[in-house]
Amino acid sequence: QAKLHGSSSVLAYTPDMGDHVHAENLLEAELKQAVRDENFTLVYQPKIDIHTRQVLGVEALARWNSPRLGDIPPARFIPALTHSSLIEGFTLQILQQAARDLGKLQGKFGPSITIAVNISPAVALSPEFPQQCCAILQQYRIDPAAIILEITEDILITELETARTAVARFRSLGIRVSLDDFGTGYAGLSYLRNIPFHELKIDRSFVQDIAENPRSLHLFRIICEMAELFGFSVIAEGVETEAQHAALRESSCRIAQGFYYARPENL
Ligand code: C2E
Ligand code: MG
Ligand code: MG
Ligand code: MG
Repeated sequence: QAKLHGSSSVLAYTPDMGDHVHAENLLEAELKQAVRDENFTLVYQPKIDIHTRQVLGVEALARWNSPRLGDIPPARFIPALTHSSLIEGFTLQILQQAARDLGKLQGKFGPSITIAVNISPAVALSPEFPQQCCAILQQYRIDPAAIILEITEDILITELETARTAVARFRSLGIRVSLDDFGTGYAGLSYLRNIPFHELKIDRSFVQDIAENPRSLHLFRIICEMAELFGFSVIAEGVETEAQHAALRESSCRIAQGFYYARPENL
């Protein structure tokens, strides 16, 4: 294992590191091939109205089965794609695939269904991305209102003004932006005043023990109320149990996502 010495970022070399570098290189080579061959697939997880159980939208989640490495989770391949600047090509493929699937999803869940697509910070902030997004929507004759872009708080840490401009730009194009994993980043809260998000997705760490711990439920309810004061829609992530679902009903949150309602599934 590589270790950090004191506060400097000098890495001590250990024999393991050679293997690690080798593994990362292999992963990158495989990813390059996968982007070239468009080898990623999407699964879709419903966003549910907790009172009516109606499916309001779906989130598209990328899956990758590498011929040589097997199933690799997004938590592993998304950072590697970002690191090797393959992320932009990947994201455009994912958007295209979601656009192609919209018709089928409307057939299954109703005509007003939305598709949420996760967008890495580097791509979301790229000046070309809004136009590329619009081109895909036009190609498939899709109403921008059918698409939601999910971005994480990482986007806000260094480039607040760039982030504000980007989100405002999407909004002006009729594309809504959702703030994913809300509460887990280190961006502070002041951005809530001036970034025009459509929705906050409350991270599952805030949902996990709302059924057992009254203080967790207080916190969850306050986050919901705060979001609503700012005019954001809220959605609870990672609902896994009947008890969590019941506790949610004591808050103002109306929309949820999680294994309790539905797992991500192939279309
Ligand atoms: P995310 O956007 O916050 O997506 C939710 C993750 O939580 C998904 O994991 C989903 O399968 C999982 N999940 C859903 N319900 C539950 C639940 O009840 N309990 C638990 N424990 N987990 C639940 P997944 O598919 O492994 O994706 C992980 C992360 O990878 C995503 O987090 C997202 O940040 C990223 N990701 C996935 N697909 C893409 C993509 O196409 N592009 C980008 N840029 N990132 C992606
Ligand atoms: Mg997401
Ligand atoms: Mg999330
Ligand atoms: Mg998450």
